[in-house]
Order: sequence, then C-alpha cells, then structure tokens
Amino acid sequence: MKPRIIKTNAEKPGEEILEAAEYIKQGKLVAFPTETVYGLGADALNEKAVRRIFEVKGRPADNPLIVHVSRIEQIYEIAEPNDVAEELIEKFFPGPLTLVMKNKKVPKIVTAGLETVAIRMPNHKVALKLIDYSSPIAAPSANKSGKPSPTKAEHVLEDFNGEIECIIDAGETIIGLESTVVDTTVYPLEILRPGGVTKEEIERYFEVRFAEEVGTPKSPGMKYRHYAPKAELIVLVGDGFFEKALEVAKNFEKRGKRVGIAGLGIKGENCFNLGDSLQDFAKNLFKALRELDKKCDLIIMQGVEEKGLGKAIMNRLKKAGKIYRI
Ligand code: AMP
Ligand code: MG
Repeated sequence: MKPRIIKTNAEKPGEEILEAAEYIKQGKLVAFPTETVYGLGADALNEKAVRRIFEVKGRPADNPLIVHVSRIEQIYEIAEPNDVAEELIEKFFPGPLTLVMKNKKVPKIVTAGLETVAIRMPNHKVALKLIDYSSPIAAPSANKSGKPSPTKAEHVLEDFNGEIECIIDAGETIIGLESTVVDTTVYPLEILRPGGVTKEEIERYFEVRFAEEVGTPKSPGMKYRHYAPKAELIVLVGDGFFEKALEVAKNFEKRGKRVGIAGLGIKGENCFNLGDSLQDFAKNLFKALRELDKKCDLIIMQGVEEKGLGKAIMNRLKKAGKIYRI
C-alpha cells in the first residue's frame, strides 16, 4: 500500500484536507505537518486506530501519545484542566507547548494507562483544519521509534512507505523540534521534555523546573534512546568547534571512515550548514542528521549552551549521540 500523498499549502490549505480527514474518521493513519515536526495521527478516541500507531512506529506501549486539538472546548470534552493549565492554555495555545492534565475520556491506549493525558493545540493551519474536519488526533512524531523526527514529508515516506494510508505534504516544518511537555498536575510545574517553548517563557507566569533536576523521570518517553542516526554521532561543545571538528574528521578519514560535519555558519565538502541562529539550528537539526546519515559513518555536530532553545537542542543531541567538551 503506497500512501496517498496530499499536497497542500501550509498557509492556505483548501478542501483537499477533507480527504485526509475522511481517512482519520475511518480509523486510518495520516501523517500531517505541525509547526514542530510531522505527526503520525489517528482518531484519539478510536482505540484500534491508535493501536496501529504503536505497531507501525515500533513504539513501546508504555510511552503515551499527545492528543492534538483545534479548539479550546475540545480540551474540556476529553480532560480536566486546573487553573494553572487554563492560564497556560490562554497564554500559549496554539503553540509548541503540551500540557499534561487530568484525563476524562481519552482511551488508556493513548495515555499508556496513566490517569493523565497530554494535550496540545498546534499552531499550523493544516493541522488545525485536519482536526476541525475530523476529531481530536493522537499523534507522536511520524518516524520509526528511535530515529530522528521528520521535518519534511519525504522523511515520513522514508520511514513508513507501504505502512500508512496518507501523508499530507505542506513542506518543511517551522520549528523543527518537538513541543515542550509540562506537567500541570504538580506545583512548581515540571518540564518533562524541553522543546519549542522555553523554560524562561513559562517562568514569566509560573514557577517551573526541569523534571530531570527534581528526580525520577515522570515522562515515560524520557527513558528511551531517541533521535539517533545509524551513523555514530559525536557532539562537540565549546569554542573553536569547526577547527576541532576538521581535526577529528581527518583522524577518522585516515582510518577509512566517511565523516560529515554539521554546525552553524560552516562551509565545505561534507559539511552541513545549520544556519546562523539557535532557531535555524533547531529547524535544521533533524534534517542534518537524516541527510548526513545517508553518506557518512560518523557525524560530528556542534553543541550549544543549554539555555533557552539550546536546552531542547542539547536534550535531543544527548539522546542521539555522545557529548564532548572542547
Ligand atoms: P512524542 O509523541 O514522540 O512527541 O512524545 C510525546 C512525549 O510526551 C513523550 O515523552 C511522552 O512520554 C510524553 N507524554 C505524553 N503523555 C504523557 C502523560 N500523560 N504524562 C507524562 N508524559 C506524557
Ligand atoms: Mg517522537
């Protein structure tokens, strides 16, 4: 089964989204763009459809999915946000922030049996229209478990050709990293996964800390290895990245390895320029890993300071490879 590929305009999706919505209503799987990464979606209230997400992704059953909504009222139909959650919804929805709150109606398969459910409203016209035309959609990132997340429809096809019914192609995603996941059932709030919204932004309204700094990881997804290319990945943090990377590359090339380098503002053979800001870095990170993976045995990537968006970038890189200070 080749997936039906529906091309659309990220800014002006039209009636073609109705066809994708039909697939969702029939319990089929649809990969769709959001502002963070591409998601692999199914009707959140259809257990059988959701089960297939876990199957095709190879996702462990104890790692819950995020439910995507397009209207605030939908949140109240399926969950019970508290006062803090309500205020965060008002400030940050739609956007790259996922809120964990008390579950009301979402099947256990979605929440991995937890009493809570993670909810987000994507800031992307295509995703919102798809949900509007169908139902709340449960969706993890549209990659095989463990692989880098997809930021283009081509990435989804690389991982799932023959396994899913439909892909909506609206070009590259804007942010390129997954949403920030915040547990609103505890106070101070806990960031279970750093992402598109920074701790500094949330701190303007509420006290918040990183769950990893508090103790036991409560987000089941945090314990799994993630985002990893097949090639070996080493991350160099500190000044003089490019010179050091070239030196390391030379040593490995002598031993017959094919080496790729990814960093900000770099140029040259087998070099991937990540751009010139942290935003560019986030947007291009997964694409760089996927592209260099096709032609390299070793990828050397620049590391960044763990502040602002840099926290989310380093979270992904730590799970994908080995970190070295230079
Ligand atoms: P992904 O679908 O790959 O973007 O991952 C979703 C992330 O949200 C994973 O790290 C999950 O463990 C986390 N998550 C989803 N639902 C919950 C929940 N109810 N409680 C805690 N973490 C959750
Ligand atoms: Mg994922």
